Amino acid sequence: MDPATPEKWRPFIKQGIEDWQVAFEAAGFKNAIVAKDPPTKEEDPDWSPEDVRYSVVRYVTTDIQNAMGPHVHDPRTGEIIESDIIWYHNVMNLLRNWYFIQTAAINPNARSVKFKDEVMGRLIRFVSSHEVGHTLGLPHNMGSSSAYPVDSLRSPRFTNEMGTAPSIMDYARFNYIAQPGDGDVSLMPGIGPYDKWSIKYGYQLMDSIVNKTKEKEVLNNWVKERASNKLYRFGRQRGLVVDPSAQSEDLGDDAMYASELGIKNLSIVIENLEAWTKQEGKDYTQLTELYEQVFVQLRRYIGHVVANVGGIYENYKSTDQDGPVYEFVDKQKQSMAITFLIDQVFETPYWLENKSILSKTEEFAFAEKLRLMQDQTLAQLINQDRLKRLIENSALNGENAYSVYEMFDDLSKAIYKEFDAKTPISLYRRNLQRTFLEGMQRVLESESNQYEHTDMKAAARLQLTKLKTKFLISRYPDEVTKSHVWDMIERINKILEYKEK
Ligand SMILES: [Zn+2]
Repeated sequence: MDPATPEKWRPFIKQGIEDWQVAFEAAGFKNAIVAKDPPTKEEDPDWSPEDVRYSVVRYVTTDIQNAMGPHVHDPRTGEIIESDIIWYHNVMNLLRNWYFIQTAAINPNARSVKFKDEVMGRLIRFVSSHEVGHTLGLPHNMGSSSAYPVDSLRSPRFTNEMGTAPSIMDYARFNYIAQPGDGDVSLMPGIGPYDKWSIKYGYQLMDSIVNKTKEKEVLNNWVKERASNKLYRFGRQRGLVVDPSAQSEDLGDDAMYASELGIKNLSIVIENLEAWTKQEGKDYTQLTELYEQVFVQLRRYIGHVVANVGGIYENYKSTDQDGPVYEFVDKQKQSMAITFLIDQVFETPYWLENKSILSKTEEFAFAEKLRLMQDQTLAQLINQDRLKRLIENSALNGENAYSVYEMFDDLSKAIYKEFDAKTPISLYRRNLQRTFLEGMQRVLESESNQYEHTDMKAAARLQLTKLKTKFLISRYPDEVTKSHVWDMIERINKILEYKEK
């Protein structure tokens, strides 16, 4: 431990380190990893955390909200020689925000701006374990959390036995799925079956095997024995997600169902946010921060769902294993993802519009915040890489693929549904309708080759032409809507003209 570590957090960081003992025990080692306080000046006047002989959790007193677990290893053998975890003081604020937003709906311990020490301590232990996992050689495994069915995460028995994900090395944060009334569920992962397996693979002594070829054979068999068991699956970390079963910040095997439950909990958080952030004599800074965090969390859920559209699963295999490595997400699931986005994002999410919170946190900005969230969702969907994957899927699988044309039709049918239903169009929806046109405009005006050489521009042009026809025959009597419709027709004319020049 770094001497700079506050006394009250030391036991929790130590627990996080020693949590790995169970994994080493399973691989045949006792007391393989032990956390120690730094020696006093009297005990060892020369001791320094900078000394390369000591692996230290460095406590860095900056406001960075993070931690990291690098290591120095011998590239010839993989032996880990030394490690210094960097622990930034303000990782506690990150933990506060996650735990509050993700669990307060079911968890009284998370319903205040400052948690009790034992509550924060438990969260610190969680991060400590994760960082120590890195120092032991484990990378992130973003494919881990999708091993558990969403409903299992609502079960106290399941979660208390298995944690909320098979690995602490996923970005599986806190249980946002369990609902009020589900009982005493576990709220975070611990050292899980995947972690124990990784340590076994990396560390178990194989002294009895003298022949190196034989050792490789044994290791390969170990892997193959576990290949069909999702508990042991590895999904790599990527900047832009292609495989919806390997995502960060998600839980469970079905993003639509998980996110729907997550949103239910978020709306409970919003309803109680003022009461839970109340502090005698303090201003609304915390309310503002946590209200913003609700949007951040919602955007995470949206991202998890979007990844299913044009998604491709990736399951690593060696040549002696059967089956595909890459598989498109099936059509029905992709179409369910679009339905989710229509219901939860493009239908105005009025539960976010809490007038009391808004009146205390900002002069104005809600309409724009909402529009930005919808615009961002559209931009994620109408993204050239995603569209390219949809087109590829159509080429390979024809009618069994969810196509770009279907996606544009589904979206525009929902976004302009007022025209078919002949119902009034609210300000939020007018903003959204203009935003969709901008999405099509971005496709048509892009000079990227990806757009030039594929169906993407044709699909966008067709969509705008269909919309223009819809607008031309509409008969709204009121001036505001009439002007909105004229404006959209004029915008479409301009967008289509752009390429005709
Ligand atoms: Zn990490």
